[in-house]
Amino acid sequence: MSRAARKTFLIGDKTPVFFRFAHGPVENPILFAQFSDVNPMEESLFDWAEEHRRYDVVFSPYVPKDEREWRREHLKLSFAVMLWEMILKDDTRLNGIIEWNEGTKRAYVRPFPKNRLSSMDFERGEGKIYYPHFMFPSRRIENYRLTSFDAKTAASLYIREEICRKMECYPLALRVETDDMGKIREILEPTNLLSEMWYLFFLAFSGKVKLRRCSVCGKWENMEGHRKTWSKHPNCANYQRVKRARQKKRAEERP
Ligand SMILES: [Zn+2]
Repeated sequence: MSRAARKTFLIGDKTPVFFRFAHGPVENPILFAQFSDVNPMEESLFDWAEEHRRYDVVFSPYVPKDEREWRREHLKLSFAVMLWEMILKDDTRLNGIIEWNEGTKRAYVRPFPKNRLSSMDFERGEGKIYYPHFMFPSRRIENYRLTSFDAKTAASLYIREEICRKMECYPLALRVETDDMGKIREILEPTNLLSEMWYLFFLAFSGKVKLRRCSVCGKWENMEGHRKTWSKHPNCANYQRVKRARQKKRAEERP
């Protein structure tokens, strides 16, 4: 490659990075959160993945092939998303999920299925949750060597590490394009569904994409185009109003 040709691929600091699919723009920036809410006991993750897969060409060396492998991926992503939600909500259960070794000043975490959370006893064993250790090998949170323990910081570092690990397995591809004005721009493309979802999670984790759960139905909603005070879907608000009115009427009718 000549020096001049190589130069055309240099991208300045001020050039925005576009993220999109190989075949079009990102349609659903909250796909990762919706995936993490899928209950593997009720729905096939493999079928879900097939339904949302939009890549004909798979570049990454490893892609989950069956239900079991999808479950493993789902566990990792839904666990990380759950921790992220807990950080945002100042959920004190984080103290029970992240383990702290006072001697080594190290923090550990064991990913577990999200649906087990409700059955966990956070009071037992000095605030530590109880579940068989052999089932979920604990993972040390690297680079976490502080003098005192802070569950939110540790959880946040775990998420950061997990995103890095997953983006290494399922990387983004760089495409260089020229727009109508002849200006070079860079476009990041997911190489498969998992690289897309982990990157979308990164965008949410870093605050670039904002999403919120509806206070009525609990489903995730992309905050783009919504007011800052958005808390529920209009349909859900309606449903709630009707339900309340009915309850009020019934109470009034009661002798
Ligand atoms: Zn709703």
